[in-house]
Amino acid sequence: MFMFFPCFYSFLIGKYYFCRVNINQEIMTSFSDKNGEMMRRGRVEVICGSMFSGKTEELIRRMKRAKFARQSVEIFKPCIDTRYSDEDVVSHEGNSIHSTPVDSSASILLLGSDTEVIGIDEAQFFDDNIVNVCNELANRGIRVIVAGLDLDFKGEPFGPMPALCAIADEVSKVHAICVKCGALAYVSHRTVESDKRVLLGEKMEYEPLCRECYNKARNEEDILRQKNI
Ligand SMILES: [Zn+2]
Repeated sequence: MFMFFPCFYSFLIGKYYFCRVNINQEIMTSFSDKNGEMMRRGRVEVICGSMFSGKTEELIRRMKRAKFARQSVEIFKPCIDTRYSDEDVVSHEGNSIHSTPVDSSASILLLGSDTEVIGIDEAQFFDDNIVNVCNELANRGIRVIVAGLDLDFKGEPFGPMPALCAIADEVSKVHAICVKCGALAYVSHRTVESDKRVLLGEKMEYEPLCRECYNKARNEEDILRQKNI
C-alpha cells in the first residue's frame, strides 16, 4: 500500500510533465509554424514622406532587424543616388547598410530572387516597372520594403510612388518637422533655383515644410519672380 502511493504519484507527476512537454511542444510548433508562415509570406511595405523625415533610417532599422532574425537581406538603390556612398544606403543620421546600386528595376528581380527580405531605397527614381517588380517579388514570398519620396519639390506625386502605395500591404507615412513653424512637414521645399525634377541635394538645397509654410514660400517666390521679369 505504502509502495503504491509513491508509484501512483510519480505516475501522475510523470503524466503531468509529459502533458506539459507535449502542450509546450504543440505551442512551440504552432508558433514557429505561424512565425515561419509570416516570414515566408510575401508582402510589400512602403515607407514614404518628405526629405529628412527618417524614411531611410526606418528602412535600415527594418532591414537590420530582419538580419538579426537570420533572414537573408539585400538592399537596392538607383545608380543615380550616390550622395553619401556608391555602395551603401546611408541615412541623414549617419546609419548605413550595404546596398547594391542598380540601373533599372528589372535588375532587382534578377539579383534579388533568392533573398528573403528586399529593401529598395529612393524608389521614386526608379522606372514605373518597379511596381510590377515589387508585386512579382511579393508573389514569390519575398518581403519587400520600399522607401521613397512621395512628393517632388512642386508638391506633385513622385514617379512610381503613388502606384507603389496603392499595391502595398502596408504604408507608413513618416514626417519631418517644418523648419519654419515646427508643425509636421509634408513636402520638401527646394531652396535653390532649378526646374529640374531630379536634383540630388541635402540641407543646402531642400527644407522640409508644412502645407501652410510651403504655400507661403511658393507665393513669395512667385512674387519675387514677377518682380524680376
Ligand atoms: Zn510650417
